[in-house]
Amino acid sequence: MNNILDFNLLELKIWMKEQGESEFRAKQVMDFLYKEVWDFDAIKNIPSSTKEKLKKSFFIGIPEIVEVLCSKEDETKKLLIKFADGNLIETVIMKYKHGYSVCVSTQVGCRMGCKFCASTINGMVRNLSSGEILAQVLVAQKEIGSRVSNVVLMGSGEPLDNYDNVIKFLELVNAEYGLNIGQRHITLSTCGIVPKIFKLSELKLQITLAISLHSAEDNLRKTMMPIANKYTIDEIIDACKNYIKMTNKRITFEYALVKGVNDSIEDAKKLSRILIDLLCHVNLIPINEIQENTFKSTTKEHIVNFSKVLLDFGIETTVRREMGSDINAACGQLRRSYLETKKNGGEGYGGDSN
Ligand code: SAH
Repeated sequence: MNNILDFNLLELKIWMKEQGESEFRAKQVMDFLYKEVWDFDAIKNIPSSTKEKLKKSFFIGIPEIVEVLCSKEDETKKLLIKFADGNLIETVIMKYKHGYSVCVSTQVGCRMGCKFCASTINGMVRNLSSGEILAQVLVAQKEIGSRVSNVVLMGSGEPLDNYDNVIKFLELVNAEYGLNIGQRHITLSTCGIVPKIFKLSELKLQITLAISLHSAEDNLRKTMMPIANKYTIDEIIDACKNYIKMTNKRITFEYALVKGVNDSIEDAKKLSRILIDLLCHVNLIPINEIQENTFKSTTKEHIVNFSKVLLDFGIETTVRREMGSDINAACGQLRRSYLETKKNGGEGYGGDSN
């Protein structure tokens, strides 16, 4: 049995043809799936014989929402989502002035090992398929009763470590028959897997590429992110220059400020020297403290001073709004507290919110 959400229109057309059905049935089925009709029997205008064939070959991989946490500070919602095999992931819905943005997970867990991140603590369990990533947006839309206008691949997992499924997901998000969300409204965040950045550049997509840099110096970066042992900052910057050349798109650099680690004026100057000639934008993130490590959030004053240095160098800089910090909205925190509580035989959550 296949998850029908993993199929694109062409694949479903081919399937219809192979079944002796008219190709146009594929689009009819897709229209219903993307409009929250997740039961083959409820699809209108399709002969019951076709429905029977669909039911024999496909399931509709809509996961269960186990828990919804709503932030009291803003309208951020965090969904704890369970797939049929029991694996849990997190999806976050954020409300902005221009509409809703959904932050999807691309893997169950993560194998990148970033020291400050909760998603990676128990390693990676498995990749999510394109349909499983897509289903997060579909259930989010149903949850809020509204269309989503932006998609960010910044939940648990490393998107470029699940390259093929992620590229297909982008196709489904972007397609007119799919979610019909413009590429300019999609952001993919990576810890910097250099060969995959080059590969992505070849596609010349208009999505925003965000790089989790977090340090301007290789040795310091290695203490935060194991991927830095594989690729240097220079190599990342080269890959970014190529991405800019191929796509004309501005790169976003994410920099999470950790108290006493990477938040000094000197660090800001180093970062500025690296980025000065680049078509880019820096997003400073106050680190979300998690229980399992000693990384502490920097002060507001440090953030202001840090951003002043960058701005003086002419580098566009913003400070990320902390959204939903009262509901463990940082990567992997909710799943982690859920798994921990279950392990300890308790009910509900560990309550490690900030
Ligand atoms: N693997 C991808 C995308 C997922 S993480 C990546 O590394 O970019 C999304 C962003 O959240 C990354 O910039 C990541 O470094 C950051 N992040 C993870 N844990 C965090 C925490 N505790 N506080 C602040 N940012 C965090």
